[in-house]
Amino acid sequence: MDTTTSRSAARVEELRDLAERAGRELEDADAVDILRWATDTFGDRFCVTSSMEDAVVAHLASRARPGVDVVFLDTGYHFPETIGTRDAVATVLDVNVRTLTPARTVAEQDAEWGPRLHERDPDRCCALRKVAPLERGLAGYDAWATGLRRDESPTRADTPVVGWDARRALVKIAPIARWTQDDVAAYVAEHGVLTNPLLQDGYASIGCAPCTRRVAEGEDARAGRWAGLGKTECGLHG
Ligand code: SF4
Repeated sequence: MDTTTSRSAARVEELRDLAERAGRELEDADAVDILRWATDTFGDRFCVTSSMEDAVVAHLASRARPGVDVVFLDTGYHFPETIGTRDAVATVLDVNVRTLTPARTVAEQDAEWGPRLHERDPDRCCALRKVAPLERGLAGYDAWATGLRRDESPTRADTPVVGWDARRALVKIAPIARWTQDDVAAYVAEHGVLTNPLLQDGYASIGCAPCTRRVAEGEDARAGRWAGLGKTECGLHG
């Protein structure tokens, strides 16, 4: 779904200007202050997305605005631990967890495209199971927040704390863009934030089970995603 259809060109222009200005003004702001700006500015038309690798951004957002929407994309291929983390987040945090699902179940996709599409054409699999449902799910919002960090990979090194998501015509907020992995660990320890148990089992970055493996000591955190397939991103952040 084209998220621009329900907005006038003037509104889209206004949102883009707002994003570019806020990106400059909030570059040095604390993560909670960035999220407070977002919730004050967009109200119910703002959500946080979470892969349920950890609940850091959901926790930060609940401090900025209790009851905030936290959107989780259930591709049908998640580890049970990831689904369990989502359920725990919904129970423990003062947030409204919304689960998005693809148009087709895994069985329906297998019937249409053949089994294990993720092995043969992971870009198409991600397009069907991640990109399309997220676009439908974000259609009711003006702004969304992610847990992207600049230190995660070269493709994320320039992530602005507030930027313009041109593809979806949405304001995109990365409140922990400037954080390091150590900052995340310190926040988790200080606030007792929920984390996916797989992080204690050799996984450093957690996505769908068929496309995620453990990483070796010293290996890059995202090396365990789509290993051997020459793919580094799912298309959600392109
Ligand atoms: Fe499919 Fe793998 Fe992408 Fe998940 S990460 S949607 S299983 S290709």
